[in-house]
Amino acid sequence: MSVRPGMKLELIAPCGMNCALCMAWLREKNRCPGCRGDDAVKARSCVSCIIKNCDVLRESGAKYCSTRCEKFPCKRLRDLDKRYRTKYHMSMLENLEDIEELGIRAFVRNEKERWACPECGGIICVHRGACSSCGRTAY
Ligand code: SF4
Ligand code: SF4
Ligand SMILES: [Zn+2]
Repeated sequence: MSVRPGMKLELIAPCGMNCALCMAWLREKNRCPGCRGDDAVKARSCVSCIIKNCDVLRESGAKYCSTRCEKFPCKRLRDLDKRYRTKYHMSMLENLEDIEELGIRAFVRNEKERWACPECGGIICVHRGACSSCGRTAY
């Protein structure tokens, strides 16, 4: 079994998604390197994501939507947030708020605790609602 790297700052996408919780990052085979990783080995939907490719982010050099965008939160981001709140018990907008308030390091520290399986300490997959190591249901 390959060793899965831990949660890292670079795994937090511009939209506030924590890619370390994604089923595509947590799987053993053909693992996605995360939103900021190499496009060559990523799902097409994530390569062509409108948020990741947004001109505002590119031109301002901001790492997160919440940092330097007058349209924040734009409709695209609000829709994504709504989908995740409804389906996956997670809010990108809350994440971005925390990042702005606490800083990215503290945010990632909190994420490690928030998404740790109480049974084995593995990472809970946001899409499956279960631990990626032991399978324990989280919600
Ligand atoms: S599939 Fe998308 S959300 Fe999941 S880890 Fe890759 S870039 Fe992140
Ligand atoms: S919130 Fe701003 S930076 Fe983020 S995708 Fe929307 S327009 Fe682009
Ligand atoms: Zn577990």
